[in-house]
Amino acid sequence: MHKDLEKVLFTQEELAARVRELGARITKDYEGKSLLLVCILKGAVTFFADLAREIKLPVEYDFMVCSSYGDSTDSSGFVKIRKDLDTDAKGKDILIIEDIIDTGTTLSRLKPILEDRGAASVKIATILNKPSRRRADVHVDYNGFEIPDAFVVGYGLDYAGRYRNIPYVGILKESVYKA
Ligand code: 5GP
Repeated sequence: MHKDLEKVLFTQEELAARVRELGARITKDYEGKSLLLVCILKGAVTFFADLAREIKLPVEYDFMVCSSYGDSTDSSGFVKIRKDLDTDAKGKDILIIEDIIDTGTTLSRLKPILEDRGAASVKIATILNKPSRRRADVHVDYNGFEIPDAFVVGYGLDYAGRYRNIPYVGILKESVYKA
């Protein structure tokens, strides 16, 4: 285990197994359709790349960047689109792929924006979910794991830009961000 972690929550094998299950469900639910997979950079990159390969349908990729926490571990409560889609959302079945849903602020704002552009449907897949922290109403269509209220890193998730390449998910030691 990485020295800055307090505990491993999900191993590489557990993540891969869950991603396979989600991919199979998505493949079944969208049978006969094609999908626009929207990766929310940067945290969702790892989950996005793994999930996309478990979806056995024609897909397109696109990427968005939304403002998030900066170097802090608490939500700023507002959302800004820093990089928008290159693809026209009109008529597309969109699956937003996110790393973690915490307060729900990001996705509660983003989903209606894509719906207003005339998408045929907009659904949400996340690998991690912290329902106890929810402040905004978000329906999660494909949920990897529910986790307690702790700050986690790895599998794409960072703290101050670090730890994204840890291949499992773990709780960051408080001493790292409360120093
Ligand atoms: P929300 O808008 O749902 O509050 O926050 C979503 C974003 O907050 C995530 O995409 C992620 O960037 C960040 N976030 C929330 N909880 C955590 C956490 O435990 N660890 C890390 N690394 N980022 C988090």
